[in-house]
Amino acid sequence: MSQELKPCPFCGTNVLSVAKISSTGPVEEWPWVVSCESGNCAIGPITNDYATRDEAIAAWNTRSDAHLLRSHEALREALRGWKELFADDMPFIIAKVGGGMTNGDQDAIDRVLIATDAALTEAAAQEPQKEQHHD
Ligand SMILES: [Zn+2]
Repeated sequence: MSQELKPCPFCGTNVLSVAKISSTGPVEEWPWVVSCESGNCAIGPITNDYATRDEAIAAWNTRSDAHLLRSHEALREALRGWKELFADDMPFIIAKVGGGMTNGDQDAIDRVLIATDAALTEAAAQEPQKEQHHD
């Protein structure tokens, strides 16, 4: 079974090479590597040498999720701000500008709050487990 390759983490291309690289000894023992073959990649990453094709692909597909955690937290913070704006400030803003809230205003605010709560609940459920420190 062949594994699917993730795109290059630097340039996003799917122009990748899975190949043996020449080495000493018989060709059966040459190591496998995966590399980015895009002519436009600023980095041109290549894996370490692996004994098997599957190992090289598994190594290529290994990614840190640190950047996802940062963007995840940034989105949650934006949603909290959005919720605060709509829950606390919007009725006053509408009252100041328009002289009072209509039922439509309140419905719109309620819909935003419900959607924001749902997004925050889903984000919390999908949040990767952070490392626990045991003293
Ligand atoms: Zn690349």
